[in-house]
Amino acid sequence: MTGRRDFETDEAAYLTDVAKFCDTVLLPRGDRSDTGEFFPDIITQFAELGLLELMYDEQRNLRLDRMRLIHETTELVAAAFPASVVALGALRLQGYLLKRYAQPHIAERYLEPLLRGEIYGSFGVTEPDSGTDVRSGTTVATRDGDGWILNGHKKWIGFAPVAAFNVVLAKVDHAGRDADTVALVVDLGSEGVTRSEVLDLMSFRGMPLGELHFSDVRVPAGSALKVAGQFTTGLVLKSGSPLAWLFDNGSQARHYVTKGGKDHKTGAMWGKTPPTHIFTRTVAKGKRAVVDRIKTMMLRRGATSVAGE
Ligand SMILES: Cc1cc2nc3c(=O)[nH]c(=O)nc-3n(C[C@H](O)[C@H](O)[C@H](O)COP(=O)(O)OP(=O)(O)OC[C@H]3O[C@@H](n4cnc5c(N)ncnc54)[C@H](O)[C@@H]3O)c2cc1C
Repeated sequence: MTGRRDFETDEAAYLTDVAKFCDTVLLPRGDRSDTGEFFPDIITQFAELGLLELMYDEQRNLRLDRMRLIHETTELVAAAFPASVVALGALRLQGYLLKRYAQPHIAERYLEPLLRGEIYGSFGVTEPDSGTDVRSGTTVATRDGDGWILNGHKKWIGFAPVAAFNVVLAKVDHAGRDADTVALVVDLGSEGVTRSEVLDLMSFRGMPLGELHFSDVRVPAGSALKVAGQFTTGLVLKSGSPLAWLFDNGSQARHYVTKGGKDHKTGAMWGKTPPTHIFTRTVAKGKRAVVDRIKTMMLRRGATSVAGE
């Protein structure tokens, strides 16, 4: 890995370097992303470029005040190679959850290799029959002394086929709608965990999505995130949620607005194929007012969330 980048005094130069990387490395990969080829080498380059480290100072304290810069980098990556920004957003989210809410011994185990792009985490909310309505989930963590026994099934989980851990959203002791919830950092090497092959989803091909089954998985004490009372603001990082913009949803919204609907079978967008940077920018120009409104809304939401938690 190259030395740490100077994010403080060299912001413009840093963004220029990221833009160059996007034009020379990401765009060609984005153009052939519908082959479904995963891109670990790109994640290594994200790490080398500091795109993950950007969220922390040298002592690994979170630097959420740098969110505007982080968001700028996300937009550049999203415009060049959309599947890779899902990965970047997921890794940033996982690092944030570990640093902010996990017990120190859990954060220490996973954070540094994650920031070096050597391992991937994953975030398990969605289930085969539970999407937006997270209260309908049926994954249950039963108390077992100070630890937990986990049973359930998660689906459409980014990085699931290759991840080292999953932050599992589970109900406590029973699956009723009124159950308490817990978010457990579960090592995916644990006995009782099985995972599917990569799911061939119609969008963001190349980003490995999969299923996770938990069958009587013993989860050690100390694995729960400290998110009590902060469930809605601290954990549900879904589209439109307060923190989502920090990671990728703002850029994905921008991507959809600027690129419009994509035919994922042919790779054509609005009848043109393949997508190019120039095309993206041309369309973005026409929709500038909408893009700017979305961006302002996302930045406001993020600022409120960072200040409020
Ligand atoms: C590329 C990709 C990566 C993903 N990665 C992850 C991941 O890492 N971890 C994870 O847990 N999940 C992940 N998901 C799953 C994703 O979070 C869910 O698809 C999402 O939560 C929506 O759930 P659903 O697909 O079941 O849609 P549904 O919940 O069935 O919703 C369908 C539509 O109905 C609308 N809708 C639903 N309820 C209401 C309501 N009450 N009022 C008005 N409208 C409503 C929704 O907005 C949506 O447009 C991923 C999905 C994709 C596409």
